Amino acid sequence: MRIAMFSTKGYDKTFFQAENNKYGHEIAYLEARLTAQTTRLADGYPAVCVFVNDIVDAEILSDLVGKGVSLIALRCAGFNNVDIKVAHEIGIKVVRVPAYSPHAVAEHTVGLMLALNRKIHRAYARVREGNFALDGLLGFDMRGKTVGIIGTGKIGQCVSELLHGFGCRLLAHDPYPNRDLINLGVEYVSLRDLFMQSDIITLHCPLMPETYHIIDDAAMRMMKQGVMLINTSRGALIDTPDVIDGLKDGKIGYLGLDVYEEEGDLFFEDLSDKVIHDDVFSRLLTFPNVIVTGHQAFFTSDAMKSISATTLSNISAIENGEPCENEVTIEHIKS
Ligand code: NAD
Repeated sequence: MRIAMFSTKGYDKTFFQAENNKYGHEIAYLEARLTAQTTRLADGYPAVCVFVNDIVDAEILSDLVGKGVSLIALRCAGFNNVDIKVAHEIGIKVVRVPAYSPHAVAEHTVGLMLALNRKIHRAYARVREGNFALDGLLGFDMRGKTVGIIGTGKIGQCVSELLHGFGCRLLAHDPYPNRDLINLGVEYVSLRDLFMQSDIITLHCPLMPETYHIIDDAAMRMMKQGVMLINTSRGALIDTPDVIDGLKDGKIGYLGLDVYEEEGDLFFEDLSDKVIHDDVFSRLLTFPNVIVTGHQAFFTSDAMKSISATTLSNISAIENGEPCENEVTIEHIKS
């Protein structure tokens, strides 16, 4: 299959080239992000491969179908950036990588919790300056703390298992409770009870209309003063200006983000010599109790191998007219 791969970095090329030896697809590695201005690069490619911040809305899909594109291959799990309804209507198939390494994301999530709690980001900078004072670095024991996990699918389950090892009390909220986690001692509760009782809240549900801004001012009013909030799922689960107010008044005591609602214009690029025009994002970076990473939770060699293998195998299945278990169908947006 001829594939136009958008938003490609050197590391994508390394892993995809190695894996493609088995498949023999013809891949054009494009640095450009897929937007209304870059669809022309897909001309002559039946398959377009995209990542989390490529835009695959109704307008772009209609443009792509006119250029002969019949397959969108997401090299990620979430498909919130694709208009699945329109893709279905115009006959473009969509495939994704539903699971590559939930452990990678879960381990990064717990890494953010530990770094915020023990202020490792501040300690690192201090020691390099010859400042060995401990004032301001006081943390708390994870053991015995209540952690609320919103979404206990593949990643939420791994996070629960890791935190169980720390001796945390685990609360969860998910429309589909996970039997293995109930056996582990996880208590499923209402969102309200989770907000009210948790010392740490971590988000692992997908971004959908029902979960958009699930963390806003109203939600924060139910939370404990000084709660830790972690989001490694999708930026728009959080109303960032509301959370900034929460940080200012101390309701949010710690914030760990790997995703940001407007990350498409920032993440995955080296902007270190540029002026950042997003004032909301810039305000976030001024707080001592906030750590932001640039959507790197998935980024392990194990996950990259798995992403490239599944993406190329998905494309081969569709090319050969075989059933593909990783196809995103209209049913996915109905459920
Ligand atoms: P998953 O589909 O296995 O699990 C999602 C869970 O959320 C399911 O159990 C589902 O029932 C639950 N859910 C749905 N609606 C809910 C709601 N309203 N309230 C609470 N729970 C709800 O997905 P996953 O593989 O665990 O991934 C979770 C999310 O993590 C993805 O949607 C993606 O956005 C994000 N992700 C981020 C990275 C990263 O690098 N930061 C990498 C991979 C995935």
